[in-house]
Amino acid sequence: MIIFSTFITHYQHRHMTTRRNFIKFSALGSLFSAHSFSLFGQKKTIELSKKPIVISTWNHGIMANKKAWETLSVGGKALDAVEKGVMEVENDPTGMSVGIGGRPDREGRVTLDACIMDEKSRCGAVAFLQDIKNPVAVARKVMEETPHVMLTGQGAKQFALEKGFKEENLLTPASEKEWREWLKASKYKPVINVENHDTIGMLALDSNGDLSGSCTTSGAAYKLHGRVGDSPIIGAGLFVDNEIGAACATGLGEAVIRVAGSHLVVELMRQGHNPEEACKLAVERIISKHENMEGVQVGFLALRKDGKYGGYSVFKGFNYALTNEDNKEVMIDVKYKIS
Ligand code: ASP
Repeated sequence: MIIFSTFITHYQHRHMTTRRNFIKFSALGSLFSAHSFSLFGQKKTIELSKKPIVISTWNHGIMANKKAWETLSVGGKALDAVEKGVMEVENDPTGMSVGIGGRPDREGRVTLDACIMDEKSRCGAVAFLQDIKNPVAVARKVMEETPHVMLTGQGAKQFALEKGFKEENLLTPASEKEWREWLKASKYKPVINVENHDTIGMLALDSNGDLSGSCTTSGAAYKLHGRVGDSPIIGAGLFVDNEIGAACATGLGEAVIRVAGSHLVVELMRQGHNPEEACKLAVERIISKHENMEGVQVGFLALRKDGKYGGYSVFKGFNYALTNEDNKEVMIDVKYKIS
């Protein structure tokens, strides 16, 4: 969450200090088992990736991965896993950057963005959606039940209501209180990683070897009414190519859109870069397009078809959750470009 404000609330402080201490790995985790075999008398070792696997952004990735794992661990589809996984975070009213409880725009309205993409390159998205707490599920309906990719605003809401989604007030008392505080100064200045809860982007590889991804957010806090970030934009906030890999982004959406960030990461993997390198090169591309990097925090995550994964960010502070057969509740801090 890029927060357009300069204060840390009591809520955030409390939340930061009470959050669980997850196991931490520095930078890229190499958590694959090796398989040795003999070829023409020579001993060869290959790395076997752990399949299935799911990775997702920030600490809330832990609860999301747990949910996704219920599907992946019994041979379920990556598409179902990434939808159900991020819905856990959308449904959590204490998370102030996704779904219900998300920070509103400067007018006090919670507007949500989300998208989903599967192994057949099918995709769906909703942007500027109000009063519906599960935008990712609406995005999946757009993908599966319309000939379109993206619905926005009132049209997206009307579609959701027709599909049986419930209309509800997404502005929780905690979010409203913060927004009213913000209104006093109304400072429109991005602050990097004020708290470790942001957009959730999730990438999964299922036991069939298929990739899918999802991304959902309430976007930049106190944004202009109508602003849409990278998260619902296929190729920016999320991209999946089942032949190569998947990528997602978090951070300042405007910067991610400018370089079609997630698509760029996947294309870099296609050119042979490993997931971490691909994310790093995409970060460098963003830096090359900005004269001033103040407030331009972006983090990328990537998962390759063979199960290799990695991430990279502009500034320190971005982390992600990893879950596979051997690893549960693992948080990984990514390397970053600017200290
Ligand atoms: N990328 C999101 C947006 O710009 C926000 C975030 O990840 O913090 O809307």
